[in-house]
Amino acid sequence: MNVTRDLFNEVMVPNYNPAAIIPVKGLGSRLWDQAGTEYIDFAGGIAVNVLGHCHPELVSALTEQGQKLWHLSNVLTNEPALRLAKKLTDATFGEKVYFANSGAEANEAALKLARRFALDHFGAQKDQIISFKQGFHGRTFFTVTVGGQTAYSDGFGPKPGAIEHADYNDLASFEALISDKTCAVMMEPLQGEGGIISPTIDFVKGVRALCDKHNALLIFDEVQSGVGRTGELYAYMGLGVVPDILTTAKALGGGFPIGAMLTTTEIAKHLKIGTHGSTYGGNPLGCAIAEKVLDIVNTPEVLNGVKHKEQLFRKGLEAINDQYHCFEEIRGKGLLLGAALNKNFTGRAKEFLVAAAEEHLMCLIAGANVVRFAPSLIIPDEDIQEGLVRFERAVAKVVGADVSFK
Ligand SMILES: *Cc1c(COP(=O)(O)O)cnc(C)c1O
Repeated sequence: MNVTRDLFNEVMVPNYNPAAIIPVKGLGSRLWDQAGTEYIDFAGGIAVNVLGHCHPELVSALTEQGQKLWHLSNVLTNEPALRLAKKLTDATFGEKVYFANSGAEANEAALKLARRFALDHFGAQKDQIISFKQGFHGRTFFTVTVGGQTAYSDGFGPKPGAIEHADYNDLASFEALISDKTCAVMMEPLQGEGGIISPTIDFVKGVRALCDKHNALLIFDEVQSGVGRTGELYAYMGLGVVPDILTTAKALGGGFPIGAMLTTTEIAKHLKIGTHGSTYGGNPLGCAIAEKVLDIVNTPEVLNGVKHKEQLFRKGLEAINDQYHCFEEIRGKGLLLGAALNKNFTGRAKEFLVAAAEEHLMCLIAGANVVRFAPSLIIPDEDIQEGLVRFERAVAKVVGADVSFK
């Protein structure tokens, strides 16, 4: 069969418009396409390939479990799921774990749990969910409605109700919405899709305090910020604020689909037998791989390495900016970084991404104004340097083209 990009248009639903090349092989932070062209990967499958491509220990975990047991129904439990849950609870505030297959599903579970908790404790009037503008929580109808971009939730008929959006990093706008009717607040402790926006400590602490005052559960969506991404195992650990429920996915499986919701025993009680479930959630293959991811990421070597590599990225991007003056700031934390374009380049992030790909570098965007980087947490320093050289060429191309038009 002749597998080309044209085949995509022929057989795939047109909700995506992928690049012209088709990668066929990955190793570490490098990718190769069908023609054998090599790329450096600063995208990491959108903050997923946390240990790069085909990490030997993950390949072993996958193949070893693959020879033993792939799937059981939820009528039975399995060793990898129990080991992973034990390690997650040992490493975090969480005392109980629910496994899903994706970030959206982990969030769906969190939102349903919060609604049920409020119903059981306070009654049906306590149903309001507050989240934040530009926030992203997944693409199921509930999570996309909680997310802060109506472009993603409009056009599908009646939305789940009692959901309101405050301004991120604006405590007054949040305080104006929260009341005793609020059952939960869902937020990213570093907005990813929304443009790589870090919360101020005062804002997060203020949100926590107001949640406590109004008996609302605080849900941290760490689907993108979790599993070492910020240099902490979870971003909340660097903020000094502990949520009531935390969701994690993306990097958790290092490229294998898995998601999880963590919470306390007291809250977990409300997800009684039969209230929620998933066919694949907690399957032995995914859990065996995630267990290995956690073993490797949750070490001082990897977490300190993230902080060191962040500095390499920041220095390199600042140096590029000193020459080409296209960024307003380099922001984010750890290896979730954004180069926010200044007003001369408003709305043109995609051009930088396309130019980078032409220079054989994969990066991401976060909205129209931010070039995003979310590479492997163990990307070799040499790959960072080489990738930045390629990125500089891409920037020169975009900025140069701009100059020649003037
Ligand atoms: C990617 C993402 C999700 C959705 O995860 P899926 O696995 O695509 O369902 C939810 N929340 C955040 C913060 C994300 O970045």
